[in-house]
Amino acid sequence: MASFASLLCAALTQAETLFDYQLQPVQVAEGTWVVPGVPEDFSRSNGGNIVNIGFIETSAGVVLIDTGPSLRYAQQLEAAVARVTSQPIVAAIITHHHPDHWFGNQHFKTLPIYALPETLGAMVNEGDNFADNLYRMSGDWMRSTEPTPANTALADNTLSIGDHTFQLIKLKGHTVADLAVLDTNTGVLFAGDLAFDQRAPTTPHADIDTWLASLDSLGDIDYRLLVPGHGQPAPDDRAIQFTRHYLLWLQNLLRQSAQVGDVPTDVINKPIPAAFQEASLVREELSRSVIHLYPGLEANTLSTHKQGGYN
Ligand SMILES: [Zn+2]
Repeated sequence: MASFASLLCAALTQAETLFDYQLQPVQVAEGTWVVPGVPEDFSRSNGGNIVNIGFIETSAGVVLIDTGPSLRYAQQLEAAVARVTSQPIVAAIITHHHPDHWFGNQHFKTLPIYALPETLGAMVNEGDNFADNLYRMSGDWMRSTEPTPANTALADNTLSIGDHTFQLIKLKGHTVADLAVLDTNTGVLFAGDLAFDQRAPTTPHADIDTWLASLDSLGDIDYRLLVPGHGQPAPDDRAIQFTRHYLLWLQNLLRQSAQVGDVPTDVINKPIPAAFQEASLVREELSRSVIHLYPGLEANTLSTHKQGGYN
């Protein structure tokens, strides 16, 4: 008899062959669903399905919160939406410019796709680089995907679609512009990648102090459910707390290491605190964060020491 592992392996191989993301919308509030991704990095087995995508049924049709990592994903997302509502998709709101959140735009390009102006600019500037990276990491899942920036800049603090009013909370720190979206009808807060839960936050475009301030702002919002960009939705602030604790640990680790003159390989191999040992991708993201953030800190520390020497 075939073992469970070999059956699972066969199922995964079949999913890869068919490029079937097996999207399963989970209802989280009235007329509101989240399509959860896996707590992994982009790969040829997950096709980039690593992110939470949301959608809301309004009286004017369905609004997407982010569009996913590829054209195939977006096509399958539309089919998954059609399994739970007869309403058509009429608009998308993009939280920030990281590609897992908007490379599905191409499939919805005739609809209004909203984003903050700085996010639009970053999509234009970085889309091709992101595409190179995702084709390399996810392979044929990406076939025919072309980076398609959002087409409508958000200027106001609210957006009304049908009978729903979305409060648009403009923050930053994870990237140059991070949009949190509060559906005032249901109290569901889509926090984008300002909030991660039980998955190490990514920092390639991060400013940690700014991000920490944005987490304080998120914490002040009166929400009933918080949907993080990666990790489980929850009615409490666990994703905010997880992200804050992780960023403070990372910031202290990098600063202290720079002060004692550790080389990057030392920092990458530092012990992971017990609080994060159960979380996904901590060692991997620490390695990346050291590559992105450590050279700047080393340079600052060096110049401070030099100045001290001259004074
Ligand atoms: Zn992101």
